[in-house]
Amino acid sequence: MKIADLHAETERLLVLASMATTGPWTWIIQDASTATLGRADDWISDGFVMDSSPCESCCKGKESWKFGRCTTPSSENANFIAAAPDMAAHIKRLDARVCELEQLHGASLPG
Ligand SMILES: [Zn+2]
Repeated sequence: MKIADLHAETERLLVLASMATTGPWTWIIQDASTATLGRADDWISDGFVMDSSPCESCCKGKESWKFGRCTTPSSENANFIAAAPDMAAHIKRLDARVCELEQLHGASLPG
């Protein structure tokens, strides 16, 4: 992939990130039936991202929340989703570093 294409893809992803709820995101366990993804300081309004819940029958008799049950994400996927704002920030830093290297090395960089 050419560097210009990398910058274009970076820009596309950062536009998506800029339109989403600002981070950091964390899962807030409400009860046995609901976990909410959002900013810990404001998950009810501006910081809300999404709720996740298993079906009603899976909730019955369960006393604590469990990732990976029914339609809830696995804990690995839940952690990965919650890391989206961190990843966007990291992509931005990587792209800035690539720009620095381009200026230092100019035409000697491939692509
Ligand atoms: Zn279920």
